[in-house]
Amino acid sequence: MRVYNFSAGPATMPLEVLEQAQAELCDWQGSGMSVLEVSHRGKDFIACSAHAEELFRELLGVPDNYKVLFLQGGATGQFAAVPMNLSDPGDTAAYINTGQWSGKAIKAALAQGVETQVVADEEASSYTTVPAPGSFSVDPGARYLHYTPNETIGGVEFNYVPDAGDVPLVADFSSSILSRPIDVASHALIYAGAQKNMGPSGLTVAIVRNDLLGCARPQTPDIFNYQKMATSDSMLNTPPTFGIYLLGLTLEWIKRQGGLEALGARNQAKADALYNAIDASALYHNPVAPEARSRMNVVFTLSDPELTPVFVAGAAEAGLVNLKGHRSVGGIRASIYNALPLEGVEALVAFMKEFEAAH
Ligand code: PMP
Repeated sequence: MRVYNFSAGPATMPLEVLEQAQAELCDWQGSGMSVLEVSHRGKDFIACSAHAEELFRELLGVPDNYKVLFLQGGATGQFAAVPMNLSDPGDTAAYINTGQWSGKAIKAALAQGVETQVVADEEASSYTTVPAPGSFSVDPGARYLHYTPNETIGGVEFNYVPDAGDVPLVADFSSSILSRPIDVASHALIYAGAQKNMGPSGLTVAIVRNDLLGCARPQTPDIFNYQKMATSDSMLNTPPTFGIYLLGLTLEWIKRQGGLEALGARNQAKADALYNAIDASALYHNPVAPEARSRMNVVFTLSDPELTPVFVAGAAEAGLVNLKGHRSVGGIRASIYNALPLEGVEALVAFMKEFEAAH
């Protein structure tokens, strides 16, 4: 029996994708081998990887002057790779701090000797807000402006693209990539770990504008060097082949759903259903400013915190799992990525109502 899995990541994947992977696991494309067992340099896997890249570019509308890279090391690796590729020690880089993940990105840049300028810091609201459009300015000498479109722990999401002027805009889209259309062209660099909306963990995707290639510090390890990865078609070393294959299957599934417009509308409906239930109740509370509420990670607390573990256990019994909030903040977090269906949200809302009535 499949449960509704609200995990923040690794997260639920489309059942159709899992079943297809299962069906073709032991004999992939008539090769008599699984995709796990073939050479990444063989023509079959190269075609599989090219297919995933092509679909990714098509669905997101990636312009031709951007490279799509399949990397490893997670978004955490990119926290360091960004300053290594885009700046020299002592250079200035601007960051927007909206919570724990942007905080980690800032720390990693500091460790690379970057003078970080935090141009907007939402600490005063306990990271329940994003800066208002136009409320901050970026030094034109900054090497880039980094932001986190969706804070997975705080449940805070930008509903606009920050204006960085002529400074390259860099985004950690780990927890909202492929959840709705985005304007790639207003960004210079986008990166995301795969384990929320793109497949299993182990694969990191980067979209890099061509003019940012070739600027890496000489000490940058080859596997973090965007130019070297681009010129080797992301095959400088052994890539995460199973993750790339599953990305391809997931993208085919997204296409069958109607693409990112359709998914965006569905994700909005899911989020609205959950926030409406929270707002209508006396027991549940979401602390995030309405315009900054995440459509992917819905966080809430119970007015009696002692009820939180009772809620989590009762939900699990009802087949609604992984609702416990991040260990650093407690409460409840329902991650409702692409593959979590509306029926899952409806089941959660029904459980929340029953629970509130009983307590
Ligand atoms: N950024 C965001 C927004 C995330 O949600 C996460 C992981 N949950 C990370 C970065 C870190 O990603 P990884 O574990 O792939 O390094």
